Amino acid sequence: MSPAQQRISRRIGAIAESATLAVDAKAKSLKAQGRPVIGFGAGEPDFPTPQHIVDAAAEALQDPRNFRYSPAAGLPELREAIARVTARDSGWEFDPSQVLVTNGGKQAVYQAFQTVVDDGDDVLLPAPYWTTYPEAIRLAGGNPVEVFAGAGNDYKVTPEQLEEACTPATKALLFCSPSNPTGSVYTPEETRAVGEWAAAKGIFVISDEIYQHLLYDGVQSVSLAQAVPALHEHLILLNGVAKTYAMTGWRVGWLVGPPDVVKAATNLQSHLSSNVNNVAQRAALAALTGPSERVAQMREAFDRRRNRMVEGLNAIDGVNCPVPTGAFYAYPDVTGLLGREIAGTTPTTSAELAELILEKAEVAVVPGEAFGPSGYLRLSYALGDDDLAEGLSRLQDLLGGAR
Ligand code: PMP
Repeated sequence: MSPAQQRISRRIGAIAESATLAVDAKAKSLKAQGRPVIGFGAGEPDFPTPQHIVDAAAEALQDPRNFRYSPAAGLPELREAIARVTARDSGWEFDPSQVLVTNGGKQAVYQAFQTVVDDGDDVLLPAPYWTTYPEAIRLAGGNPVEVFAGAGNDYKVTPEQLEEACTPATKALLFCSPSNPTGSVYTPEETRAVGEWAAAKGIFVISDEIYQHLLYDGVQSVSLAQAVPALHEHLILLNGVAKTYAMTGWRVGWLVGPPDVVKAATNLQSHLSSNVNNVAQRAALAALTGPSERVAQMREAFDRRRNRMVEGLNAIDGVNCPVPTGAFYAYPDVTGLLGREIAGTTPTTSAELAELILEKAEVAVVPGEAFGPSGYLRLSYALGDDDLAEGLSRLQDLLGGAR
């Protein structure tokens, strides 16, 4: 190795640790030391995977077909089921060959950017954004170009803002609705406007629909695939079973898109990881084709917790939390708390505030810095009702809320 060479490659050395996983790890380690930490950090349902899905996996374990390599793009039955549910839920009919099954939605995100982004390409990234997107864009050689919308705009960007950020180097737009981290949902009209703008530009849109089934207050949401069919040649949909079916640990996601994109992404996966675990794929098949009552019950629980969370947060002076209508996150604007003395310290950033909250109230939240500008916190309400109530009451005690 010459002195000019670095031990860790520049490409990988530049990656930041996932901030959401880091907060979760810190909370878990404090808990292991016996401290009663309440975790609002992790984005995963607290429910067990529904039994019929677990049963399908147990059955798959007895079938020797599942002990072998299978096609890198996914089991044919699962790809067919994904094509069917995507036609039903996203209004896009296509051949099952346009589906690539991945190790969770996260791998679909990575592969989508690797497949369409070249060195020096710009990718428009509405902020606040999920913490993995900018890293995946950079790993593909691209530049994430943040387009910010604050609480006053319900954290949703407009075509005018995108137009302003767009240059000849723009290759793609990332779109995520319902959103992690904000819980915002674009209306059908807003979705159409963004899609038509992108179609007119001829850029790719990578649309992450993993929270598609977690909607509240009767809000309407439409997939970009349905809203703007003219986009299909440049549209990649990302999805997975993790959030809807409480299957975060099973690691099954997928991407669907134009045939040439899916073929290229499959070539990448054939060298990267080959097929996704066959047993997990069979479980995902059972999730997509089985009964959906448990999904509805989980959604009801999230809805109840969402209302408690927003009410509890907005009762704190200095906190402004728009009502999220999707996913399972609240994203309060906490700029009103910064510069104020709290328990003997004066936080000036949301990162310092989150640190203080963990230290003094033993409550784990993720600071806005993980998702874009400082001044916000992300709180997941995918945790038990009692923990939620306890966590909120500790926050109110520390930050001065009306109980
Ligand atoms: N997209 C978004 C917006 C997410 O929040 C997540 C999980 N946090 C994923 C994709 C990936 O989910 P998984 O890899 O668990 O399927």
